[in-house]
Amino acid sequence: MAAKILPAGNLQSWIDKLVARYEVFAPVEGSGSSSFKPVKTGQSPALDVRTDVPPKGIIFKQVEKLLTYSTGESGVEVTETPVKETAKVIFGIRPCDARAFALTDKVFVESEMPEAKYTERRKQTAVITVGCTEACKTCFCTSVGGSPAERAGDVYMIDLGDKYLVEALTSTGEKMLEAGKGLLSDAKADDEAAARKTSDEVAESIKKMRVPDAKALDGLFTDEAFWNSLSEKCLSCGACTFLCPTCYCFDVRDEGSVQQGERYRRWDSCMFFQYNRAAGGHNPRDQHWKRMRQRMLHKFSYFVANTGEYSCVGCGRCIRSCPVSYDLREFLEKSFHATSSEHLDFKAELPSESEELEACDVPVGGKSSKTGVGSDV
Ligand code: SF4
Ligand code: SF4
Repeated sequence: MAAKILPAGNLQSWIDKLVARYEVFAPVEGSGSSSFKPVKTGQSPALDVRTDVPPKGIIFKQVEKLLTYSTGESGVEVTETPVKETAKVIFGIRPCDARAFALTDKVFVESEMPEAKYTERRKQTAVITVGCTEACKTCFCTSVGGSPAERAGDVYMIDLGDKYLVEALTSTGEKMLEAGKGLLSDAKADDEAAARKTSDEVAESIKKMRVPDAKALDGLFTDEAFWNSLSEKCLSCGACTFLCPTCYCFDVRDEGSVQQGERYRRWDSCMFFQYNRAAGGHNPRDQHWKRMRQRMLHKFSYFVANTGEYSCVGCGRCIRSCPVSYDLREFLEKSFHATSSEHLDFKAELPSESEELEACDVPVGGKSSKTGVGSDV
């Protein structure tokens, strides 16, 4: 589909037109952290911010009521929570997060037993992706199959300074552009060349890492010393998994009594001690190293065996959010060494622990465009 140009001065009008038709979520800076929140007419989103919290909770709710139940003389009565979704737009998602939805779809939509609530919400949500004009020190999307200019979602756009190059990627994306009719014009070859140049520079600035072979990783399964060396600092807090756009573990619990109650699904984390504890008390992952092994092998081996893709988009959030500075790239580096004869001197280029990694505000290349800071709503 032909690329369009949106003058920067028309951006807010386009967003307002979308807000008039849909529930629009966009990056917003709050007190202490940034996340995707519903925006109102006239509210400018913080498009240059990579949010601390990924947008996964818009589709895969952190807590969701599945059903209510009651028991009586006639047996058990179950009423499923109806799936009622309004049309939504996620505006300003980064390519890595848009890709993360495509990966999570493999679990909840493209499986033998699609999950109704996630599937319906996903169908009702348009994704407008903003390509990156700079990368953070913790970004490694190009090492796990992505790119700062990946055409993921329904619309792809990129900031060219005083204008945006905008492309519809799907029929839903065309509807989004239709909403902005009159605000967009046809792109010229120069615009597309400028977008390519920016994207190439950003991709070039991201440290390319070597990721170990998925099958070879299984050979490390019983290497307790290897996993211990990665997990000795871990607090099992679960921040890395809750803030990961591709993690999708959940727990199902009933609240109420045997006679009547409600069933809820809640996010869970494989890094929690209780995650694998079975009835009777046995816990096959009762130590940190076993839980770290599960998290790493799921992302870089088991998920690959099932889908052909890593369950990691290289967004770097787990690195920035870890209170004890566990860096997933350390696992990649060490496991590559342990499973390959190739020499990899990567450690020297990892940011040191003393470096500020909390906020993704330290570009490693490309141009900086600090505009449009949103307000909390
Ligand atoms: S594992 Fe870490 S870097 Fe990979 S997608 Fe999850 S939060 Fe991002
Ligand atoms: S990992 Fe970083 S550079 Fe890559 S798409 Fe995500 S935010 Fe952009």
